[in-house]
Amino acid sequence: MPAESTAFSSLPLSPATVANLQRLGYTEMTAIQAAALPPALLGKDLIAQAKTGSGKTAAFALTLLANLNARRFAVQSLVLCPTRELADQVTAEVRRLARAEDNIKVVTVTGGVPSRGQIATLEHGAHIVVGTPGRVLDLLDRGNLQLDALNTLVLDEADRMLDMGFADDVVKVGMQCPSTRQTLLFSATFPDGIMKLAARFMRDPVTVKVESQH
Ligand code: ADP
Ligand code: MG
Repeated sequence: MPAESTAFSSLPLSPATVANLQRLGYTEMTAIQAAALPPALLGKDLIAQAKTGSGKTAAFALTLLANLNARRFAVQSLVLCPTRELADQVTAEVRRLARAEDNIKVVTVTGGVPSRGQIATLEHGAHIVVGTPGRVLDLLDRGNLQLDALNTLVLDEADRMLDMGFADDVVKVGMQCPSTRQTLLFSATFPDGIMKLAARFMRDPVTVKVESQH
C-alpha cells in the first residue's frame, strides 16, 4: 500500500472538481492516479504505465483540466489516441470530469469519418481536442487546428499507437506543439520504442509504474 493519501481532496484540485468526483463515485484514487497525479499536477512531464482498467484516463484528464483556463477559448489540451473508439471513450470521460467547470468544449477528431464536420466544429472553438494522430496531423497541416495556446499534450495508449505505426505522425504533431507544453505519456506496456518516443518528446520525465491492479 502506498504511504501517501489516496483521497482526491489531498490534491491541488478545485473544490468543485473534488465534489464532482464524489458525485461520479470516485471516492479514492486508483494506484496509478495516486502515483501520477502529484507530479503531473506540479507540471512535470510524465511517463505512466499501468494495465488497462486502472483509471489512466482520469489521471491525465484531471491534469489537463487543472492546466486549463476556461475563459480562454483556444485549444489548450490535445490527447492523441490510437483508435476512434478510444478517442470517443476519452472524450466521454473528459466531459464527465469537466462537468464541474464552466462550459468546457471538448472536440473529437478522428479518421474514418469525413473531416468536414470536424472542421466546422473546430471553427466554433474548442478547449480540448481528442483525436487520432493521422487526422490531427491532417487538420494541422491544412490550418484547421491551431496549437499555439496548447499547454498539455497527452499520448494515450502509446504502446498501441506504436504498434499501429503512428510513431512518425505522433512526432510530427509533437513538433507543432509549443515547446513549453507539459507532456503526459500513458501506456499499458513498456516496449523499447516507448523510451525512444519519449526521448524525442519529453523534458526530464518522471516515470511512474503500477504493477498490480489498483
Ligand atoms: P485505463 O485507461 O487505465 O484502461 P480507464 O481510465 O478507462 O482505465 O478507467 C477504467 C474505469 O474505472 C472507468 O470506468 C472509470 O470511470 C473508472 N474509474 C477511474 N478512476 C476511478 C476512481 N478513482 N474511482 C472509481 N472509478 C474510477
Ligand atoms: Mg485508457
